Amino acid sequence: MTVGIVGAGQLGRMLALAGYPLGIDFLFLDPADEPPAAQLAPHLHGSFTDRRLLRTLARRSEVVTFDWENVSVEALRALHKDVRICPPLAALAASQDRVSEKRLFERLRIPTTRWRAVDSLLQLERAVRDIGLPGVLKTRRMGYDGKGQFVLHNPAHIEAAWAAIGGAGLIYEKFQNFSREVSIVGARSPTGQTVFYPLSANVHGGGILHYSIAPFVSRVLERAAQTYLKRVMNALSYVGVLTIEFFVVKGRLIANEMAPRVHNSGHWTIEGCVTSQFENHLRAICGLPLGSTRALGHAAMINFLGKMPAPGRLLSIDGLAYHDYGKEPRPGRKVGHCTILKSRAAERNSALADALRSVQWT
Ligand code: AMP
Repeated sequence: MTVGIVGAGQLGRMLALAGYPLGIDFLFLDPADEPPAAQLAPHLHGSFTDRRLLRTLARRSEVVTFDWENVSVEALRALHKDVRICPPLAALAASQDRVSEKRLFERLRIPTTRWRAVDSLLQLERAVRDIGLPGVLKTRRMGYDGKGQFVLHNPAHIEAAWAAIGGAGLIYEKFQNFSREVSIVGARSPTGQTVFYPLSANVHGGGILHYSIAPFVSRVLERAAQTYLKRVMNALSYVGVLTIEFFVVKGRLIANEMAPRVHNSGHWTIEGCVTSQFENHLRAICGLPLGSTRALGHAAMINFLGKMPAPGRLLSIDGLAYHDYGKEPRPGRKVGHCTILKSRAAERNSALADALRSVQWT
């Protein structure tokens, strides 16, 4: 069985690492010369929209998936008659446009941030008047890891926000004074079997994930998150791993966004759960039974941004696993991560504090 993956970044690489023990082979398509996953599996080198390469990928794979949500829906749609594509393209399309995503949440009665679509300075002024301040102006498309966002605190910021990211295709949303950010990762199989990982609590800096701790234990929030995730999965006849990120505001979940793929906040599941998110994504799209999502202890995952920290001191921390994606250093780039797994939350917290002393986000 060969799984074709559009995108050969670190998520594709970790999918391949999880898939080889299951006897799965991989073929990647990516425009980069030496993307992280190409160190593990054959790589078709070219654009995500290259019809000829996409057809080759389809012909040589039993199922095609993607490791990035900004790949072209149109280009993938053209492959539909040649190969099965999972997750469904409707999920990919919804996640690519913040307005479609918000409408989906609203249709499924999933609480989300108040928002207005904005295509002009006048509409931005109107949106700020309707929704109030503070607020966040974001690009509807191609925004990830906090890119294409501007926080407005007072009316004098309107012009600056417009100058920074203004143009057609924006969304203005209420700024949430959250107590925490949490996410839920789950998987659904073609037969409708669903599994959910424990919640993870996520700490961001400048819009990019710095670290997560999991399981984040809150029965009430976990039940709500599972209900919402299942609603989206069932509405889209979803197959694969799906993630929703939430703000916790006054003890309630407010959905921020979803990702139709394995997720950075689920990396801890590699060491921290019986079956990782990567393995369950592959099991789902290959029609295999889903594996247990039971946590094996208390985990923390730290992203390495910009450049890899020296492994020596980190590896001296008991229960720490080190992941280097094989990427060139660049400011803000996700180049690796580490996961700490301990049997007690207090031990996890002190090992996390220790590890954080060796990590600099650049
Ligand atoms: P996003 O690209 O929407 O996931 O945003 C990245 C990060 O920016 C989030 O994880 C939050 O930390 C912050 N953020 C985005 N939107 C809002 C909002 N409406 N209110 C408060 N913080 C936000």
